[in-house]
Amino acid sequence: MKGICILGATGSIGVSTLDVVARHPEHYKVIALTANTNIDALYGQCLAHRPEFAVVVDEGKAQEFEEKLKSSPISGLQILSGVKALEYVATLGQVDSVMAAIVGAAGLLPSLAAAKAGKTVLLANKEALVMSGDIFMQAVTESGAQLLPIDSEHNAIFQCMPAGYKTGMQAKQVRRILLTASGGPFRQTPLEQLASVTPAQAVAHPNWDMGKKISVDSATMMNKGLEMIEACLLFNMEPEQIQIVIHPQSVIHSMVDYVDGTVLAQMGNPDMRIPIAYSLAWPERFDSGAQPLDIFAIARMDFEAPDLERFPCLRLAYEAINTGGTLPTLLNAANEIAVDAFLNGQIRFTDIPVIIERCMQAFEVKPADSLAVILETDQQARMASKQIAAGLKR
Ligand code: NAD
Ligand code: MG
Repeated sequence: MKGICILGATGSIGVSTLDVVARHPEHYKVIALTANTNIDALYGQCLAHRPEFAVVVDEGKAQEFEEKLKSSPISGLQILSGVKALEYVATLGQVDSVMAAIVGAAGLLPSLAAAKAGKTVLLANKEALVMSGDIFMQAVTESGAQLLPIDSEHNAIFQCMPAGYKTGMQAKQVRRILLTASGGPFRQTPLEQLASVTPAQAVAHPNWDMGKKISVDSATMMNKGLEMIEACLLFNMEPEQIQIVIHPQSVIHSMVDYVDGTVLAQMGNPDMRIPIAYSLAWPERFDSGAQPLDIFAIARMDFEAPDLERFPCLRLAYEAINTGGTLPTLLNAANEIAVDAFLNGQIRFTDIPVIIERCMQAFEVKPADSLAVILETDQQARMASKQIAAGLKR
């Protein structure tokens, strides 16, 4: 029986994780659940899973949550609030596995704390890894933590790696990674229409049902840019060893190309419960609740090279990883601000890469050799990007 803490329990990944956990009460006990503000969803989860701790980061909402609990059958639940509480629950002695499913840079400190504490870290929060890079991977190595990727592509790659492979290791017999991408909702939209697409159109992903931020990232393909950087870090590979492949059906979740010419692919329905169940059961397997793959219904699979004119965010991501230092941190922070501004109707879809590029150019790139440098860069990039976005206001 393992103890689990779910950071970002009320989000898309958090909800899918609890769905899988509920199928295996003999394997997992829920120790802690965290939310930012959504206390109604958190309340339902606490009622169903009876954790020991619930964190509501927003202090006002945490008070409301306490009130709500007074007239409820839930007893013995400790309620915490504030950002430090996230690190506290992620490092509790009774927690073996931490699902890192907070969206964006807000997830960095608790995910890193879990890694430093030697937990099994199930990493969905790719932004945390992209912004902190080697620092995160070093923390994993030094503590002996187990880092298992939840992102479907990275989970697929991990499954196709040689037996005994551990994230961060260099697999010499692997030549290349083929990182698949659906291409998002605007793969075939005429280029001149991209400036006027709405947030509702951008979050309507053709194959996956996800949180808003990652859905916009999929539409700009920044998601694949972040994933390319994530793959370099997790699998200790150079950017030129990672080939992005547009595969609109999202049946193959990525491939590993070996030196002898063998290519291994992992396939399945686009259901995040599959990589989640894989990582929870690892190194065993158990039921995820996903439907079996109907290969005849799929009938065909297509593959194409990505279009860098349509998706300038991909070019920016390659620039960030090739330059290194604080540039990936700048890229990530500027992207978070730009996506937020787009979702709030402040800027156009096509302004997103413009803001990111201007922010990347506004700072001198430094070595990303300490957490302090990374956090400061993140804050400065956020402020600068907000100003750039305000200047673009439509
Ligand atoms: P989501 O928006 O649905 O959920 C985000 C969660 O984070 C919520 O529980 C929210 O309460 C919490 N949160 C948000 N801001 C916070 C803050 N400032 N402090 C503390 N908690 C905060 O997002 P999601 O789609 O579940 O994605 C979560 C992460 O997983 C992202 O990094 C995303 O890139 C990654 N991911 C998601 C999917 C997917 O299918 N949804 C697939 C691959 C990777
Ligand atoms: Mg992915």
